[in-house]
Amino acid sequence: MQFVSGETVGIDLGTTFSVIARLDAMGTPRTLPNRRGEPTTASVVLFKGPGEAIVGPTAEDRAGIPADNVVTAVKRHVGDPSYRFEFAGRRLTAEFISAMILRKLKQDAERHIGPIGNAVITVPYYFNDASRRATQRAGQITGLNVIDIINEPTAATLGHAWQRGELGRLDLPEDERTVLVFDLGGGTFDVTLVRYTPRRFRVLATDGDVLLGGLDWTQRMAEYCCDRFCEWFAADPREDPQSFSEVLRACEAAKRALSRRPRAIVSIHHDGRNVDVEFTDELLQQLTADLLQRTLDTTERVLETADVRPAEVHEILLVGGSTRMPMVRRKLQELCGRPPATTLDPDQAVAHGAAVHAAILEARTQGTESRMGQAVLRRLRSVHVTDVNAHALGVLVTDPQDLRRKFNHIMIPANTPLPVSVRQRFVTTVPNQRRIDVHVLEGEARDPGACHHVTGFRIAGLPPGLPIGAPVEVEYRYDENGRIDVRARELTSGRGASVAVIRGATADADVEEAFRRLAAEYTIE
Ligand code: ADP
Ligand code: MG
Repeated sequence: MQFVSGETVGIDLGTTFSVIARLDAMGTPRTLPNRRGEPTTASVVLFKGPGEAIVGPTAEDRAGIPADNVVTAVKRHVGDPSYRFEFAGRRLTAEFISAMILRKLKQDAERHIGPIGNAVITVPYYFNDASRRATQRAGQITGLNVIDIINEPTAATLGHAWQRGELGRLDLPEDERTVLVFDLGGGTFDVTLVRYTPRRFRVLATDGDVLLGGLDWTQRMAEYCCDRFCEWFAADPREDPQSFSEVLRACEAAKRALSRRPRAIVSIHHDGRNVDVEFTDELLQQLTADLLQRTLDTTERVLETADVRPAEVHEILLVGGSTRMPMVRRKLQELCGRPPATTLDPDQAVAHGAAVHAAILEARTQGTESRMGQAVLRRLRSVHVTDVNAHALGVLVTDPQDLRRKFNHIMIPANTPLPVSVRQRFVTTVPNQRRIDVHVLEGEARDPGACHHVTGFRIAGLPPGLPIGAPVEVEYRYDENGRIDVRARELTSGRGASVAVIRGATADADVEEAFRRLAAEYTIE
């Protein structure tokens, strides 16, 4: 990885809120506030006109703007090639819209620290190769050199361990701490188990739930409100997008209020009529019990995967705005027999950890010219971070019993510590086979159709007359910088081929074009 000139930051590009941070000269992560002085910026893009956008608009900015001009939760579409947001005759990709959010964070932060060159951007556990690459491209479109993409919970814990003052302290004993990170944000849920000593930081296991977050809690409240409204009047606020979006907004406010007090009222206006619905914390818990249960099931699965008993967890870290809901804290306390830690700011922990990670990477490339103190640099250089792969990597294999059937044979299971290298033998399946196609798949499923196709290559020119069952060796190497090397060789002839996939490869032509367009055609407030 290479650094470019300019400052180095960490960015939490969230579904609902985004945060940018940097380590100060003493090694303390500091959030760089936006132009309004707020630490978090809503990941919402409002189009005022062609080429004119406001990121993180206020209620005033939104007044009188049709809902069609506003993009929310674009992160849910990042990596989806079919997604487009249409506005003023333009069709924008999710990564282009993400780039607009990044541009806002960057330009506001630059008011504090000057030009920014390099960034670590965080992604949820469940992001696959395609969504990670799209996030990387979003950074490049903004003109950021993306030095790494890391998982959000990994970042949160790294930041926490760093802040406790333990990481990188070679004088401290090598005591191990096991930490569970429970991250329930707006649209995503991740849970991760981490173990660290002052020198080594290891992710033991991580898992997550696609499309589960605070938005779902709010949605349940809104459905409940509309049902009540329908009981009173034979009219449904869900039929009018404007009414329903107001119900959602009122429910969002009520949900937050319930984290602080026992009751909250939602007033619904629709069709010239009003209904007030009262919520208690208890009612909210009833309406969403299955959602909370899903987060606990995933948590238990992660503990099992890592073979760690709940009582062995030293600390539970809460990340994500939705962990402010009292029901989350209660349930986790029941599970682990101890209250979750409250030292972290759930909104900023991820960005702070990304800033620590960025500084660890940067410290290795720097001499004495760093703006950071020598003691901080020494600490940063002595931390060794080991991550795991979030998704399995497999190879497409033909079933020898039925040549029409193909399946995903897993080479590197999920949750394997990196770097890792795996070598396995396969055999040719037809007589006189002249070529071998190797396809690299990402995903746990046996059905290749349910996996993401990462890359593929072909060994051609095998000698004629090769018998069925000729040995083929396949090797996967996955290093800590996100580089995947795949080689395959037919052993009798010695013919082979290989491919390297580098997460975070250099910008392609499309990215450069998007970079020019964003820079030349859009102003962002
Ligand atoms: P993301 O990382 O997905 O952008 P955040 O971690 O910023 O999300 O969390 C946003 C979510 O947190 C929203 O769904 C919001 O409703 C919820 N949230 C924020 N504050 C509270 C609160 N006080 N009580 C309950 N939920 C909250
Ligand atoms: Mg988040």
